[in-house]
Amino acid sequence: MAPHYLDKCHSQELDASVIPERSRLYFLEPIAIGTPYVEGLVSYICRLAEAHHVSPGVLAKQEMLPSFRRTHSVGGKTAYRVQDEGLKTSVSSFPTPKYRKNLNEYGLLSWQYIAGLEPLIMQSGLRSLTIPPWAEETARPNQTIEFGRKLRSWCPECLRAWCDTNQPIYEPLIWSIAAATVCPLHHQPLRSYCPHCQRTQLPISGRMQVGRCVHCQNWLNVQPEEPSELETLVVSEIDWHLWVTERVVEILISNSIKAETRDEIERVIYHGGQPQPDLTDLNTRQAQGILLETCLQSLNKT
Ligand SMILES: [Zn+2]
Ligand SMILES: [Zn+2]
Repeated sequence: MAPHYLDKCHSQELDASVIPERSRLYFLEPIAIGTPYVEGLVSYICRLAEAHHVSPGVLAKQEMLPSFRRTHSVGGKTAYRVQDEGLKTSVSSFPTPKYRKNLNEYGLLSWQYIAGLEPLIMQSGLRSLTIPPWAEETARPNQTIEFGRKLRSWCPECLRAWCDTNQPIYEPLIWSIAAATVCPLHHQPLRSYCPHCQRTQLPISGRMQVGRCVHCQNWLNVQPEEPSELETLVVSEIDWHLWVTERVVEILISNSIKAETRDEIERVIYHGGQPQPDLTDLNTRQAQGILLETCLQSLNKT
């Protein structure tokens, strides 16, 4: 007669057949989904990495990208996806997404990270953590338009408020949109220089942690003693910057523009209506103008 413990093992084997499939990685809920303060993809990857006690770089290299390559291959203009459908395998093809520098903007990099990550957490919908591909819907298909910032930016007041009230620390997507120069909650310029080491940083790096400087690891939840030149300009034209940022918030919430907002944007950018910026640097002005113009062309009225 078989020993009792073998019976027990056998019954566990049988039970395992009805246990639902487990995800390889622990699933974290993205923060503020469906709101203008939705978490950015970079922030989500950093928090997920921290939950697994690894760096974002290790998570990407050892898990997300190998997972992507198991089901996808990328050519110059065409990408392929292999799908296992039980007894047969199907291959679908589609245009390769355009390259974007900021991982929080939907493009070649974020597509690979998302396609690699979603099977690992057995969830979908991570694309809503990226800046939508507004430009692809315009009449300028050959022009590469990027809405993402070149540098990581943050609102120290938001970070401090979450620290003080023990809320999860994260970095909202709106901090990555170049046209949004102020925090819509605190009406202060977004910062790009660490208040401790005065250095700037790229939107993602292998050892990044949410809310902390990648160079000196200090919290970014304090205002700088000396604001940068651009931040000083933003303060001097705060009405304009708030107006643009509020439009960005509106577009992010519904991915559309109200008819009266559309008329107002047209009046401001085509007919010199108020508020008008005089001083802000050219790159920021261009980023704001391109976003407003593109959205006018691509988004339907509500
Ligand atoms: Zn804020
Ligand atoms: Zn620093």
